[in-house]
Amino acid sequence: MIHDKYEAVIGLEVHAQLLTRTKIFSGDSIAFGAAPNTHVSPVSLAHPGTLPVMNKEVIGLTVKLGLAMNCKIVAHNYFARKNYFYPDLPKGYQTSQHTDPICVGGFLPIDTINGKKNVQLNRIHMEEDAGKSIHDISEKNTCIDLNRAGTPLLEIVTEPDLHSAEEAYTFITELRKLLRWLGVCDGNMEEGSLRCDANISVRLKGTTTLGKRVEVKNLNSIRNVKKAIEIEVERLIKITESGEKIKQETRSFNADNNSTFSLRSKEEADDYRYFPEPDLPPFFITDAYIKSIKDAMPPLPATLQQKYIQQYQLSSYDAAAICTDKEDVFLYDSIVEKIPNYKSAANWVTGPIRNYCIENNIAVQSFPLPVSKIAELINLTDSGKVHFNIASSKLMLALIENKNETAESLAATMNLLQENNTDALAKWVEETLNAMPDKVKEYQAGKKTLIGLFAGQVKKLSKGKADMQAVTKLLEEKLGIRNDGSYNLQKL
Ligand code: ADP
Ligand code: MG
Repeated sequence: MIHDKYEAVIGLEVHAQLLTRTKIFSGDSIAFGAAPNTHVSPVSLAHPGTLPVMNKEVIGLTVKLGLAMNCKIVAHNYFARKNYFYPDLPKGYQTSQHTDPICVGGFLPIDTINGKKNVQLNRIHMEEDAGKSIHDISEKNTCIDLNRAGTPLLEIVTEPDLHSAEEAYTFITELRKLLRWLGVCDGNMEEGSLRCDANISVRLKGTTTLGKRVEVKNLNSIRNVKKAIEIEVERLIKITESGEKIKQETRSFNADNNSTFSLRSKEEADDYRYFPEPDLPPFFITDAYIKSIKDAMPPLPATLQQKYIQQYQLSSYDAAAICTDKEDVFLYDSIVEKIPNYKSAANWVTGPIRNYCIENNIAVQSFPLPVSKIAELINLTDSGKVHFNIASSKLMLALIENKNETAESLAATMNLLQENNTDALAKWVEETLNAMPDKVKEYQAGKKTLIGLFAGQVKKLSKGKADMQAVTKLLEEKLGIRNDGSYNLQKL
């Protein structure tokens, strides 16, 4: 395989819009979806004589993310002007920390097919977003919406440390999870609050110098990041194999036909004439400030997963499933505080409760049952009184409608309690086996799959109420003691 000769090298530049209320240098709202040009004060419009004022919240969120991603936080910071002309950039420059970022180094751990890996970061810096040019609502004109101009952005840049489309996919998935967890960004790629550019090159396996790279822009979903990388790696290998040279260029991904096309080559790259922003004073980050952010930080998903695996003996699958969302963790923790049925609580949180919330389009914190009722449901199933399938479908829904009842009394009223009284079960087992002497003989002659038939019959006789785990055990016991080939009711 020619692909085995090559190694893909990928570095990502991720832009994340911060979950502040207002813009980075003005009091304009950053709410998504407002009517065009309604969140535009004179500062956003760059009227002469206006002055930016730094939004402190932006620094707090950036330091929080930097600490969570193991970065070094730089003490002395300033902004610079990145000068270029574009109609949706009213100032004629973007205020950015591109030259000297607030967070340097750091890493984010991900799981790969070869085990855990710390994806190395280059930096995280703060900057402002530009407005939007809209090309598709007027035939002749491009329309400009400046609501987004001045929205706070973080640019998170990795080292060229990813080596497959899958790794890049996992990295963004983990990054998005962390951003949401920390309340730094809502991670919504469709609305553009999280955007990713992928830098891609290939090189011969075993070599260490970096190949010429292409940068693919406009990747508006995690799946598209993966697809674009797959396409580009394939394309770059083909070019290399054919003996041609790779041009350093910027490309765009077209999701409609799964292809990339060239936007511009690097030779035409702009000179941004960076210089320090004279209208914003430099700012200093003290150790005490860093400590205050650290102290207020919630435990990170990776730390919690470790705790669930080590202290609660959950599988890493269950632990990861709970930790996909902070709300789920909160609910899980509140449940196991009441009843330490760790595995069952995990099943309920990541199964029926999550499904209910998805189906009803509600957040987990709006799940309509209080923790005490969820605990009742778990107790009922764990004690074998109600089967999990019944409890998680019928009983849970009924309990949501009748919150004043206890789960057990409701199960009794609805006739959902399992029969696990041995005498009652034995009666149904006897009746079943007596009715099918031939099948019993076949079973005893070795056709063990018949146990399913017997169990089904017992279930029918019990009108679905028999605790089937207990029934199977009983059937095996009763059938197992036979050795004379016949079936004798008295011996049961
Ligand atoms: P620029 O700011 O001009 O886009 P940077 O040097 O800051 O360039 O790199 C941007 C991103 O490109 C980083 O994520 C970096 O890891 C990645 N990168 C740089 N060189 C390569 C390469 N040869 N192959 C793949 N990725 C690369
Ligand atoms: Mg770039």
